Amino acid sequence: MNMFDLSDKVAIVTGGNGGIGLGMAEGLAKAGAQVVVAGRNAAKSAQAVEQLKAHGGRAIAIEVDVTDEASCKKLIEDTVSRLGRLDILVNNAGTNIRKQPQEYSASEWHSVIDTNLTSAFICSNAAYPHMKQAGGGKIIHIGSMMSIFGASFSAVYAATKGGIVQMGRAMACAWASDNIQVNCVLPGWIDTELTQRARAQYSDLEGRVTARTPAGRWGLPNDFSGIAVFLSSPASDFLTGTAIPVDGGYSVQG
Ligand code: NDP
Repeated sequence: MNMFDLSDKVAIVTGGNGGIGLGMAEGLAKAGAQVVVAGRNAAKSAQAVEQLKAHGGRAIAIEVDVTDEASCKKLIEDTVSRLGRLDILVNNAGTNIRKQPQEYSASEWHSVIDTNLTSAFICSNAAYPHMKQAGGGKIIHIGSMMSIFGASFSAVYAATKGGIVQMGRAMACAWASDNIQVNCVLPGWIDTELTQRARAQYSDLEGRVTARTPAGRWGLPNDFSGIAVFLSSPASDFLTGTAIPVDGGYSVQG
């Protein structure tokens, strides 16, 4: 369907070399976009690019450390100079340190905030002039169930994931007149490296999540291919400032 066609578009997915980011990158590539896989681990990124190409997609890797402002700005500039434009930015790179709030050091606070929240601010601001000049664009932030709920081990992570929703709403207001839509995706519990660490830490987590999720299963990275295409395509042109759970019903279970 033309409404979902991204064949003249260029997309960056931070953390696009694995997990949810790679699931989103796959959707974007299948819809025709040229995808920049932006991660720290060059070998992992090269493998992700091969995977996207194997499915007929167009992709390149550009190395980035999203905690570094200069590196974020260089990612945007290198994308535009190599691929000629930037239409879609997915701010997906993220991390977590699961601890009670009182156990956090200030440097741990800063590392999670920098990775999950400041990076999205810097990358979006660097992307803005290119999207404005092109007549529009799409920015997708990644929140979490911790954008909605609290948990004893997630004070800092929840601060970033609540913050990114509010930041996205403000950006949506600021940039609507430039035809730039800014939306947030809130994943439920998804089987990735991030949550494999959590399941190793909390042995009952796997069963508790399955029991609480109406869909009766954990999410998979490919569950994010469709929402990535929708929020990047003309199909969502009148949708901005939203925070959409992709969670198998976890957030609506009473
Ligand atoms: P993964 O650990 O599988 O992937 C995280 C990605 O972020 C990796 O590709 C990693 O790339 C990248 N990344 C981390 N730090 C940096 C950095 N400093 N610079 C550049 N890239 C970085 O996690 P998920 O796929 O699970 O998570 C993706 C997003 O989804 C995150 O924002 C996370 O908070 C969110 N999320 C995940 C949920 C889940 O259940 N899995 C639930 C809710 C939200 P590299 O390896 O190259 O460093």
